[in-house]
Amino acid sequence: MTVRTRAAATLAAVLSTAIVAAPAAAAPGDLTSAVVAEVHQRATGVVAADRATVVTPARRHGDWAFGTAVLTTRPGSPHLPDGWLFVAHHADGGWSVALEGEPRFAELAGRAPVVGEGERALLVRQDGGRVSTTAGGDLRTGMALPFAVGQTWGMAGGPHGWSGAAAPWSSLDLAGGDQRVLAARAGTAYTMCTGWIRVIHDRGYATDYYHLWNNINVNGAAVSQGTFLGNTGTDVTCGGSASGRHVHFGLRQNNAYVGIAEHNVGKWVPQNGASAYQGSALHGSTRVHAGGSVHNYGALGFTQGVIDANGGGTVNKRTGPGTGYALAGSVADGATVTVSCSANGTSHTGRWGATNLWNRLSDGTWVTDAFMWTGLSGPVNGYC
Ligand SMILES: [Zn+2]
Repeated sequence: MTVRTRAAATLAAVLSTAIVAAPAAAAPGDLTSAVVAEVHQRATGVVAADRATVVTPARRHGDWAFGTAVLTTRPGSPHLPDGWLFVAHHADGGWSVALEGEPRFAELAGRAPVVGEGERALLVRQDGGRVSTTAGGDLRTGMALPFAVGQTWGMAGGPHGWSGAAAPWSSLDLAGGDQRVLAARAGTAYTMCTGWIRVIHDRGYATDYYHLWNNINVNGAAVSQGTFLGNTGTDVTCGGSASGRHVHFGLRQNNAYVGIAEHNVGKWVPQNGASAYQGSALHGSTRVHAGGSVHNYGALGFTQGVIDANGGGTVNKRTGPGTGYALAGSVADGATVTVSCSANGTSHTGRWGATNLWNRLSDGTWVTDAFMWTGLSGPVNGYC
Protein backbone atom coordinates (compact mmCIF):
# COMPACT_ATOMS: atom_id res chain seq x y z
CA MET A 1 0.00 0.00 0.00
CA THR A 2 1.12 3.49 -0.69
CA VAL A 3 -0.51 6.86 -1.05
CA ARG A 4 -3.44 5.62 -3.01
CA THR A 5 -5.71 8.59 -3.04
CA ARG A 6 -3.31 11.50 -2.97
CA ALA A 7 -0.16 10.33 -4.66
CA ALA A 8 -0.12 13.05 -7.25
CA ALA A 9 -0.91 15.84 -4.86
CA THR A 10 1.76 15.05 -2.31
CA LEU A 11 4.49 14.34 -4.74
CA ALA A 12 3.86 17.34 -6.58
CA ALA A 13 40.80 16.41 -4.14
CA VAL A 14 38.95 16.22 -7.31
CA LEU A 15 38.32 19.90 -7.52
CA SER A 16 41.28 20.74 -9.65
CA THR A 17 40.57 20.57 -13.32
CA ALA A 18 42.28 17.36 -14.22
CA ILE A 19 43.77 17.58 -17.65
CA VAL A 20 44.54 14.15 -18.98
CA ALA A 21 47.00 13.64 -21.79
CA ALA A 22 44.99 14.10 -24.93
CA PRO A 23 45.27 12.47 -28.32
CA ALA A 24 46.62 14.72 -31.02
CA ALA A 25 43.23 14.95 -32.65
CA ALA A 26 41.61 16.82 -29.79
CA ALA A 27 43.05 19.38 -27.42
CA PRO A 28 41.82 18.93 -23.85
CA GLY A 29 40.98 22.59 -23.57
CA ASP A 30 38.44 22.11 -26.28
CA LEU A 31 36.79 19.41 -24.22
CA THR A 32 36.63 21.56 -21.10
CA SER A 33 35.13 24.44 -23.06
CA ALA A 34 32.59 22.16 -24.65
CA VAL A 35 31.53 20.74 -21.28
CA VAL A 36 31.28 24.21 -19.75
CA ALA A 37 29.11 25.34 -22.66
CA GLU A 38 26.83 22.35 -22.17
CA VAL A 39 26.53 23.05 -18.44
CA HIS A 40 25.62 26.66 -19.10
CA GLN A 41 23.03 25.60 -21.64
CA ARG A 42 21.57 23.03 -19.27
CA ALA A 43 21.62 25.26 -16.20
CA THR A 44 20.11 28.33 -17.77
CA GLY A 45 18.82 30.63 -15.10
CA VAL A 46 20.93 29.27 -12.26
CA VAL A 47 24.32 30.30 -13.57
CA ALA A 48 25.26 33.17 -11.33
CA ALA A 49 28.37 35.18 -11.95
CA ASP A 50 30.11 33.66 -8.95
CA ARG A 51 29.51 30.06 -9.98
CA ALA A 52 32.49 28.41 -11.58
CA THR A 53 32.19 25.21 -13.56
CA VAL A 54 34.75 22.57 -12.60
CA VAL A 55 35.25 19.95 -15.28
CA THR A 56 37.01 16.71 -14.38
CA PRO A 57 37.52 14.49 -17.42
CA ALA A 58 38.44 11.46 -15.38
CA ARG A 59 38.65 9.09 -18.32
CA ARG A 60 39.91 9.58 -21.86
CA HIS A 61 40.11 6.99 -24.57
CA GLY A 62 40.60 7.90 -28.21
CA ASP A 63 37.80 10.22 -29.23
CA TRP A 64 35.88 9.69 -26.03
CA ALA A 65 35.86 11.28 -22.59
CA PHE A 66 33.87 10.71 -19.41
CA GLY A 67 33.84 12.63 -16.16
CA THR A 68 32.05 15.06 -13.91
CA ALA A 69 31.03 18.68 -14.26
CA VAL A 70 30.17 20.69 -11.16
CA LEU A 71 28.66 24.14 -11.10
CA THR A 72 30.06 25.39 -7.82
CA THR A 73 28.78 28.00 -5.41
CA ARG A 74 30.74 29.79 -2.70
CA PRO A 75 31.42 28.40 0.77
CA GLY A 76 28.77 29.99 2.98
CA SER A 77 26.31 30.33 0.13
CA PRO A 78 22.74 29.17 0.82
CA HIS A 79 22.95 27.36 -2.51
CA LEU A 80 24.60 24.01 -2.95
CA PRO A 81 26.47 23.11 -6.12
CA ASP A 82 24.88 21.34 -9.04
CA GLY A 83 26.64 18.45 -10.71
CA TRP A 84 26.41 16.07 -13.63
CA LEU A 85 28.24 13.13 -15.07
CA PHE A 86 29.14 13.78 -18.70
CA VAL A 87 30.13 11.70 -21.68
CA ALA A 88 31.74 13.33 -24.70
CA HIS A 89 32.59 12.17 -28.20
CA HIS A 90 34.97 13.98 -30.53
CA ALA A 91 33.70 13.84 -34.07
CA ASP A 92 33.54 16.11 -37.08
CA GLY A 93 36.12 18.45 -35.61
CA GLY A 94 34.44 19.13 -32.29
CA TRP A 95 33.28 17.65 -29.01
CA SER A 96 29.72 16.50 -28.63
CA VAL A 97 28.93 16.61 -24.91
CA ALA A 98 25.95 15.09 -23.15
CA LEU A 99 25.11 15.51 -19.47
CA GLU A 100 23.47 12.93 -17.27
CA GLY A 101 19.72 13.14 -17.73
CA GLU A 102 19.74 13.95 -21.44
CA PRO A 103 18.58 11.39 -24.01
CA ARG A 104 21.93 11.81 -25.76
CA PHE A 105 23.72 10.87 -22.54
CA ALA A 106 22.03 7.50 -22.60
CA GLU A 107 22.80 7.10 -26.28
CA LEU A 108 26.49 7.95 -25.91
CA ALA A 109 26.90 6.03 -22.64
CA GLY A 110 25.47 3.02 -24.41
CA ARG A 111 28.40 2.83 -26.81
CA ALA A 112 31.26 4.82 -25.30
CA PRO A 113 34.39 2.73 -24.72
CA VAL A 114 35.16 4.92 -21.71
CA VAL A 115 32.09 3.53 -19.94
CA GLY A 116 32.63 0.29 -18.08
CA GLU A 117 30.35 -2.64 -18.72
CA GLY A 118 29.27 -2.71 -15.10
CA GLU A 119 28.05 0.87 -15.10
CA ARG A 120 26.69 1.00 -18.65
CA ALA A 121 23.36 -0.59 -17.77
CA LEU A 122 22.84 1.96 -15.01
CA LEU A 123 23.92 5.02 -16.98
CA VAL A 124 21.71 4.34 -19.98
CA ARG A 125 18.75 4.72 -17.64
CA GLN A 126 19.81 8.30 -16.87
CA ASP A 127 18.22 9.69 -20.01
CA GLY A 128 15.77 12.12 -18.45
CA GLY A 129 12.71 10.43 -19.81
CA ARG A 130 12.27 6.81 -18.95
CA VAL A 131 11.19 7.18 -15.35
CA SER A 132 8.78 9.81 -14.17
CA THR A 133 9.41 11.53 -10.89
CA THR A 134 6.73 9.40 -9.29
CA ALA A 135 7.75 6.28 -11.21
CA GLY A 136 4.16 5.51 -12.10
CA GLY A 137 3.29 5.30 -8.42
CA ASP A 138 6.11 2.86 -7.68
CA LEU A 139 7.87 4.32 -4.65
CA ARG A 140 10.07 1.35 -3.84
CA THR A 141 13.76 2.21 -3.61
CA GLY A 142 15.32 -0.84 -1.98
CA MET A 143 17.48 1.58 0.02
CA ALA A 144 18.73 1.51 3.58
CA LEU A 145 19.46 4.71 5.44
CA PRO A 146 23.00 5.86 4.54
CA PHE A 147 24.70 4.47 7.63
CA ALA A 148 25.25 1.09 9.23
CA VAL A 149 22.18 -1.11 9.54
CA GLY A 150 21.36 -1.44 13.22
CA GLN A 151 22.61 2.03 14.17
CA THR A 152 20.39 4.89 15.29
CA TRP A 153 21.22 8.38 14.08
CA GLY A 154 19.66 11.77 14.52
CA MET A 155 17.45 13.13 11.75
CA ALA A 156 18.66 16.68 12.19
CA GLY A 157 16.65 17.86 9.22
CA GLY A 158 13.48 16.42 7.74
CA PRO A 159 12.66 16.66 4.02
CA HIS A 160 14.18 19.78 2.43
CA GLY A 161 15.58 20.76 -0.90
CA TRP A 162 18.98 19.88 -2.28
CA SER A 163 19.59 23.59 -1.96
CA GLY A 164 17.69 24.69 1.15
CA ALA A 165 13.95 25.28 0.97
CA ALA A 166 13.60 25.02 -2.80
CA ALA A 167 11.36 22.21 -4.00
CA PRO A 168 11.49 19.30 -4.47
CA TRP A 169 12.31 18.32 -0.92
CA SER A 170 14.70 15.56 -1.86
CA SER A 171 17.02 15.55 1.10
CA LEU A 172 17.45 14.58 4.74
CA ASP A 173 20.17 15.70 7.16
CA LEU A 174 21.49 12.81 9.22
CA ALA A 175 24.16 12.74 11.91
CA GLY A 176 25.36 10.66 14.82
CA GLY A 177 26.35 7.06 15.43
CA ASP A 178 29.84 6.27 14.20
CA GLN A 179 29.60 9.12 11.66
CA ARG A 180 30.42 6.67 8.84
CA VAL A 181 28.32 7.42 5.78
CA LEU A 182 27.54 4.34 3.70
CA ALA A 183 25.94 3.73 0.31
CA ALA A 184 22.17 3.36 0.70
CA ARG A 185 22.02 0.76 -2.06
CA ALA A 186 24.36 -0.91 -4.52
CA GLY A 187 25.40 1.00 -7.62
CA THR A 188 28.33 2.83 -9.15
CA ALA A 189 29.91 5.70 -7.24
CA TYR A 190 31.40 8.98 -8.44
CA THR A 191 33.28 11.67 -6.58
CA MET A 192 31.63 14.84 -7.84
CA CYS A 193 33.77 17.17 -5.76
CA THR A 194 35.60 17.07 -2.46
CA GLY A 195 32.96 16.08 0.09
CA TRP A 196 30.41 14.99 -2.49
CA ILE A 197 29.69 11.44 -3.65
CA ARG A 198 26.96 10.39 -6.09
CA VAL A 199 25.86 6.79 -6.42
CA ILE A 200 23.88 5.73 -9.49
CA HIS A 201 21.50 2.89 -8.64
CA ASP A 202 19.22 0.65 -10.64
CA ARG A 203 15.69 1.61 -11.70
CA GLY A 204 16.75 5.19 -12.50
CA TYR A 205 17.50 6.20 -8.92
CA ALA A 206 20.62 7.91 -7.62
CA THR A 207 21.65 9.23 -4.22
CA ASP A 208 23.88 12.16 -3.29
CA TYR A 209 25.96 12.52 -0.13
CA TYR A 210 27.33 15.96 0.70
CA HIS A 211 29.45 17.69 3.36
CA LEU A 212 31.57 14.53 3.76
CA TRP A 213 34.98 14.43 5.35
CA ASN A 214 37.46 11.78 4.19
CA ASN A 215 35.34 10.96 1.18
CA ILE A 216 36.47 8.12 -1.06
CA ASN A 217 37.80 9.10 -4.47
CA VAL A 218 36.02 7.05 -7.07
CA ASN A 219 35.02 7.23 -10.68
CA GLY A 220 32.49 4.57 -11.46
CA ALA A 221 33.55 2.15 -8.74
CA ALA A 222 31.02 -0.57 -8.02
CA VAL A 223 29.66 -0.21 -4.49
CA SER A 224 27.38 -2.36 -2.39
CA GLN A 225 24.76 -1.29 0.09
CA GLY A 226 26.90 -0.39 3.07
CA THR A 227 30.10 0.58 1.24
CA PHE A 228 31.93 3.38 3.09
CA LEU A 229 31.69 6.70 1.25
CA GLY A 230 33.09 9.12 3.84
CA ASN A 231 32.45 10.54 7.28
CA THR A 232 29.82 13.07 8.18
CA GLY A 233 31.36 16.52 8.03
CA THR A 234 30.95 20.16 7.21
CA ASP A 235 32.79 20.26 3.90
CA VAL A 236 31.70 23.06 1.58
CA THR A 237 34.57 22.94 -0.90
CA CYS A 238 32.19 23.28 -3.84
CA GLY A 239 29.85 25.63 -2.02
CA GLY A 240 26.99 25.76 0.43
CA SER A 241 26.99 25.82 4.20
CA ALA A 242 26.85 23.32 7.05
CA SER A 243 26.35 24.38 10.64
CA GLY A 244 27.42 21.05 12.14
CA ARG A 245 28.67 17.63 11.13
CA HIS A 246 26.10 15.70 9.09
CA VAL A 247 25.46 14.11 5.74
CA HIS A 248 23.08 15.91 3.41
CA PHE A 249 21.46 12.88 1.78
CA GLY A 250 19.58 13.58 -1.45
CA LEU A 251 17.36 11.32 -3.56
CA ARG A 252 17.44 11.60 -7.33
CA GLN A 253 15.49 9.90 -10.03
CA ASN A 254 16.62 10.09 -13.60
CA ASN A 255 18.90 13.05 -13.03
CA ALA A 256 16.48 15.16 -11.08
CA TYR A 257 16.16 15.58 -7.37
CA VAL A 258 12.79 14.15 -6.38
CA GLY A 259 10.78 14.47 -3.22
CA ILE A 260 12.03 11.87 -0.75
CA ALA A 261 8.67 11.88 1.05
CA GLU A 262 6.55 8.74 0.60
CA HIS A 263 9.59 6.74 -0.52
CA ASN A 264 11.20 4.26 1.84
CA VAL A 265 14.74 4.34 3.20
CA GLY A 266 15.76 1.97 5.95
CA LYS A 267 12.06 1.01 6.40
CA TRP A 268 11.17 4.63 7.18
CA VAL A 269 8.83 6.69 5.04
CA PRO A 270 9.74 10.40 5.22
CA GLN A 271 6.85 12.85 5.42
CA ASN A 272 6.99 16.50 4.45
CA GLY A 273 6.36 19.10 7.12
CA ALA A 274 4.85 22.54 6.83
CA SER A 275 8.24 23.93 5.89
CA ALA A 276 11.59 22.63 4.79
CA TYR A 277 13.70 20.79 7.40
CA GLN A 278 10.57 19.99 9.45
CA GLY A 279 8.53 16.91 8.70
CA SER A 280 8.92 13.43 10.05
CA ALA A 281 9.45 9.82 9.16
CA LEU A 282 7.15 6.86 9.70
CA HIS A 283 8.09 3.29 10.55
CA GLY A 284 4.75 1.55 10.76
CA SER A 285 2.84 3.79 13.17
CA THR A 286 5.99 5.09 14.84
CA ARG A 287 6.52 8.68 13.84
CA VAL A 288 9.82 10.48 14.44
CA HIS A 289 9.90 14.22 13.92
CA ALA A 290 12.89 16.19 12.71
CA GLY A 291 15.32 16.36 15.59
CA GLY A 292 14.46 12.82 16.64
CA SER A 293 16.32 9.59 16.02
CA VAL A 294 15.86 7.00 13.30
CA HIS A 295 17.02 3.40 13.56
CA ASN A 296 18.33 1.91 10.34
CA TYR A 297 16.30 -1.27 9.79
CA GLY A 298 17.97 -1.92 6.44
CA ALA A 299 16.43 -1.96 3.00
CA LEU A 300 12.84 -3.05 2.43
CA GLY A 301 12.74 -5.69 -0.28
CA PHE A 302 10.65 -5.15 -3.40
CA THR A 303 8.17 -7.84 -2.34
CA GLN A 304 8.12 -6.82 1.30
CA GLY A 305 5.98 -4.53 3.37
CA VAL A 306 6.12 -2.80 6.75
CA ILE A 307 3.01 -3.39 8.84
CA ASP A 308 1.30 -0.06 9.56
CA ALA A 309 -1.64 -0.54 11.90
CA ASN A 310 -2.45 3.18 11.59
CA GLY A 311 -2.07 3.68 15.31
CA GLY A 312 -2.98 0.18 16.39
CA GLY A 313 -0.52 -2.24 17.94
CA THR A 314 -1.19 -5.27 15.77
CA VAL A 315 -2.96 -6.31 12.59
CA ASN A 316 -5.02 -9.49 12.31
CA LYS A 317 -3.94 -12.23 9.98
CA ARG A 318 -6.58 -14.35 8.26
CA THR A 319 -6.72 -17.70 6.49
CA GLY A 320 -7.98 -16.00 3.33
CA PRO A 321 -8.36 -12.57 1.70
CA GLY A 322 -11.09 -11.08 3.86
CA THR A 323 -12.54 -10.68 7.32
CA GLY A 324 -14.93 -13.55 6.57
CA TYR A 325 -11.99 -15.94 6.89
CA ALA A 326 -10.81 -17.29 10.22
CA LEU A 327 -8.27 -15.47 12.36
CA ALA A 328 -4.75 -16.81 11.97
CA GLY A 329 -2.88 -14.81 14.58
CA SER A 330 -1.63 -11.27 14.30
CA VAL A 331 1.42 -9.32 13.26
CA ALA A 332 2.90 -6.37 15.10
CA ASP A 333 2.99 -2.81 13.89
CA GLY A 334 6.39 -2.11 12.32
CA ALA A 335 7.07 -5.73 11.46
CA THR A 336 8.52 -6.59 8.05
CA VAL A 337 6.49 -9.10 6.08
CA THR A 338 7.19 -10.80 2.77
CA VAL A 339 4.35 -10.96 0.26
CA SER A 340 3.93 -14.13 -1.80
CA CYS A 341 1.01 -12.87 -3.88
CA SER A 342 -2.18 -10.81 -3.61
CA ALA A 343 -5.92 -11.10 -4.18
CA ASN A 344 -8.98 -8.91 -3.86
CA GLY A 345 -11.10 -9.29 -0.74
CA THR A 346 -12.92 -7.18 1.79
CA SER A 347 -12.23 -3.46 1.69
CA HIS A 348 -10.44 -1.63 4.49
CA THR A 349 -9.11 1.84 5.12
CA GLY A 350 -5.69 2.48 6.60
CA ARG A 351 -3.32 5.40 6.82
CA TRP A 352 -2.71 5.47 3.09
CA GLY A 353 -6.30 5.11 1.89
CA ALA A 354 -8.92 2.46 1.16
CA THR A 355 -8.29 -0.78 -0.70
CA ASN A 356 -9.77 -4.23 -1.17
CA LEU A 357 -6.36 -5.74 -1.87
CA TRP A 358 -5.12 -8.47 0.46
CA ASN A 359 -1.62 -9.90 0.55
CA ARG A 360 -0.74 -13.52 1.22
CA LEU A 361 2.39 -13.61 3.36
CA SER A 362 5.23 -16.08 3.15
CA ASP A 363 3.70 -18.03 6.07
CA GLY A 364 0.49 -18.54 4.10
CA THR A 365 -1.65 -16.14 6.13
CA TRP A 366 -3.35 -13.04 4.72
CA VAL A 367 -3.23 -9.37 5.73
CA THR A 368 -5.10 -6.46 4.19
CA ASP A 369 -2.92 -4.17 2.09
CA ALA A 370 -4.57 -1.25 3.90
CA PHE A 371 -2.34 -1.90 6.91
CA MET A 372 0.93 -2.35 5.12
CA TRP A 373 3.42 0.01 3.41
CA THR A 374 4.84 -1.63 0.31
CA GLY A 375 5.52 1.31 -2.01
CA LEU A 376 2.88 0.22 -4.52
CA SER A 377 -0.89 0.56 -4.57
CA GLY A 378 -1.17 -2.72 -6.43
CA PRO A 379 0.31 -6.16 -5.78
CA VAL A 380 4.08 -6.21 -5.26
CA ASN A 381 4.45 -9.85 -6.21
CA GLY A 382 1.58 -10.51 -8.62
CA TYR A 383 -1.89 -11.91 -8.07
CA CYS A 384 -2.32 -15.35 -6.58
ZN1 LIG B 1 20.63 19.20 4.16
